[in-house]
Amino acid sequence: MAELIDQIRDIVGERGVVVHEDLLGRSAGFRHPNETLQAKFLVRPANTDEVSKVLKLCNDAGQAVVSQGGLTGLVDGNIAGRDEVILSLERMREIEEIDPASSSMTVQTGVTLQSVQEAADEAGFFFPLDLGGRGSATLGGNVSTNAGGNRVVRYGMARDMVLGMEAVRADGTVLNSLNKTIKDNAGYNLKHLFIGSEGTLGVVTRLVLRLRPKPASQETAFLAVDDFNKLPKLLNFCNGRSGGGLSAFEVMWKEYFQLVLSTPGAAQPLPGDYPFYVLMEVIGGDTQGDGERFENMLAAALEEGLLVDAVIAKSEGERQAMWALRDDVESLDRWGPRVGFDVGLPIAEMPAYLDEIDKPIVAEWPDRKRAVFGHLGDGNLHITYSVGENGANVKKVIDDAVYLPLASRGGSVSAEHGIGLAKKAYLEVSRSPAEIELMRELKTMMDPNNILNPGKIF
Ligand code: ZN
Repeated sequence: MAELIDQIRDIVGERGVVVHEDLLGRSAGFRHPNETLQAKFLVRPANTDEVSKVLKLCNDAGQAVVSQGGLTGLVDGNIAGRDEVILSLERMREIEEIDPASSSMTVQTGVTLQSVQEAADEAGFFFPLDLGGRGSATLGGNVSTNAGGNRVVRYGMARDMVLGMEAVRADGTVLNSLNKTIKDNAGYNLKHLFIGSEGTLGVVTRLVLRLRPKPASQETAFLAVDDFNKLPKLLNFCNGRSGGGLSAFEVMWKEYFQLVLSTPGAAQPLPGDYPFYVLMEVIGGDTQGDGERFENMLAAALEEGLLVDAVIAKSEGERQAMWALRDDVESLDRWGPRVGFDVGLPIAEMPAYLDEIDKPIVAEWPDRKRAVFGHLGDGNLHITYSVGENGANVKKVIDDAVYLPLASRGGSVSAEHGIGLAKKAYLEVSRSPAEIELMRELKTMMDPNNILNPGKIF
């Protein structure tokens, strides 16, 4: 009988297979920039039918398959081993249709997020999902990880932007649910099984995405706040006053703000010694009146004592300079070795939680550096520690300190990045044995030969 690679070549053709030696020229991705891809070989099907046939062959052969998108993930959910086959949809990047009447766009999942954003914009619509890796990250990866990003407070996560889906099961069965309507309650909504499952339950090949009206106005401000307890009040105040138009509420703790200010060329919108800074954005539909309403809203918040200082972006350049501060995570590289986290917890728990996790770390490393920023409206914090050394033992101490206190606070060890391999050891902090058991049962039922991204999540 022919080797698996030859059988697959018969399906996808010569250019549909990249052998191991040729993978060595490809980077292993954002988290491993100095490594090259490892795999038995890589398959690049050209359409859903080929994906289906390839999966059927691999399933029958018990061959493990790791789906990869743009390799911008942060939890090693996409890492393949030397004995695994990589499935890449890089040849399936077509935007098949934009349907203005149903405000939807149908795409193949190898398309990049940026291409989708641009196509929506050209068609007079808005696709609100946005994150730093937009130029490389694919919709397949975005959906498999239920990506979050900067506008979740207004539009939800990737899950909330998917109307319909075509997915291929481990045995090659194609599920066609390319629904275009917002309402669809005909039994179980199977698309949600695949969203956020990190490639362990099936391969998503096509999507119907929900488009939104293009905002007519976008107001951006940088605010200083002197007390944590005022942040949720400010959030609710502004969201209410803007009629739910709040589209970003990014909070920077002082240490992070001061660090990004020290980047050469950084603009300084406000003095650097307040405890909290907020990058706030409100979108609206009235080009004429929204600017004035925004100013009035901030003036009222100031009067209520919810903020102590504010500056409004007067141009697109000023707006981008404000976002550049928030997005300057590379500034953390100046600290040397560091450990980064993406956790979720109720806003009210955050101050006590941050105190609690710091105690064992400060006890061990009194000079530790810590940066905190987050999508506060989503209950999502990004925390970075740097203690001047790294290594498995150091990481374990810091991981334990950060993750374990989440259990008693109703927190999540992964707010938006997923579990992959990196957080596998801590899944049970956020999920009960009964929940993990059901996850395992689903996995066994949908992928009985355990070929889809095996060993990830749990
Ligand atoms: Zn984030």
